[in-house]
Amino acid sequence: MKILLTGGCGFIGSAVIREFQNMESPTSNMNNSQFNSTHGETNEVSISNPVQIINIDAVTSLPIELAQAAIAPISKNYTFVHADICDAEILRSIFNSQCPDAVMHLAAETHVDHSITSPKRFIDTNIFGTYNLLSEALNYWRDKGEPEQFRFHHVSTDEVYGRLGVVGKFSETSNYDPKNPYSATKAASDHLVRAWHETYGLPVVLSNCSNNYGPFQLPEKLIPKIIACALSGKKIPIYGKGNQKRDWIHVSDHARALIKVLTSGQVGRSYNIGAENELENISLTKQICSILDRLHPAKNSYTNLIEMVEDRPGHDFRYAINPDRIRTELGWKPIIAMEDGLEDTVKWYLANDEWWSPLLQDM
Ligand code: NAD
Repeated sequence: MKILLTGGCGFIGSAVIREFQNMESPTSNMNNSQFNSTHGETNEVSISNPVQIINIDAVTSLPIELAQAAIAPISKNYTFVHADICDAEILRSIFNSQCPDAVMHLAAETHVDHSITSPKRFIDTNIFGTYNLLSEALNYWRDKGEPEQFRFHHVSTDEVYGRLGVVGKFSETSNYDPKNPYSATKAASDHLVRAWHETYGLPVVLSNCSNNYGPFQLPEKLIPKIIACALSGKKIPIYGKGNQKRDWIHVSDHARALIKVLTSGQVGRSYNIGAENELENISLTKQICSILDRLHPAKNSYTNLIEMVEDRPGHDFRYAINPDRIRTELGWKPIIAMEDGLEDTVKWYLANDEWWSPLLQDM
């Protein structure tokens, strides 16, 4: 089984690679009789051991050695291609030389604040790059005789649905209503992927996940930023009143869900992924400060460093995922409780400052 994975040097892509590497006998983990009995048809892609991963990543946000650290130990079934998905010729030569059985597409520009100041590179990578990948995948799939087992898995976000009020959750049938350039480009890419299935028959699956946390996330993102600011004795900036709510999932739970969607998801269908851990940003910040107070006490509580700053434009109030479809149809569920995951994440950042501290100047 060969998987062409884009964005494998990123936070979630590297967790997917680690998850594949940790699977001793992937085939035995991949069966899903519940899904087959519900739908009366086989949609499964069998994964034979060992899984070979070809990781295409332009490594846009950090030095290559730090990116590769997230994937170590690199097994012999791993190939890294330092390339940009906006380069169609390179993609074509990789498809033709590597002959993958599936694509997992995670490469994206992902930081909402950067999308507000520099939207063009989000349009280039998230829309044009996805178009390139779809186009080259389609040519390759046709050249191979349109194998039924081929999959193009597009990894997306719940932010495509826009914002929620105080009640309700996003389901797979929620309207798309993106509010910032990042979510608008991800929404566009979701539409392209569906169109390549409906128009050309490319066997695609999609997933939309809520906010991830865990090791190897860049310190520009909320949870590592809180930890990094606290440990550096800097103010911890929180937008607005800090009452925005996010629905958190540990990155390993997301990685396992992605493998489930790839192997058992129904072609043409999308799956919302979430662990139902809703927290206001300010409560999350205080929770992290109190873990740090316990594990790494300073003279004063880290909560004294919290500083409310002007809200960002188009800041969505609340996201929450209804994960019923992936739970009932594919039998996936998260296994990491938020309290445990958060504590482990804080411990990871405490133990690995050589990974994140060189990245602080980019914050
Ligand atoms: P990340 O920014 O950590 O990783 C993205 C990776 O894509 C990076 O390694 C980067 O170098 C690579 N990349 C960017 N532009 C590229 C290009 N033109 N060509 C090749 N590689 C390129 O992001 P992440 O948090 O790991 O997110 C991965 C995917 O998951 C994204 O598609 C994102 O929209 C989606 N997602 C993220 C979250 C989250 O909470 N982080 C939640 C839901 C969905």
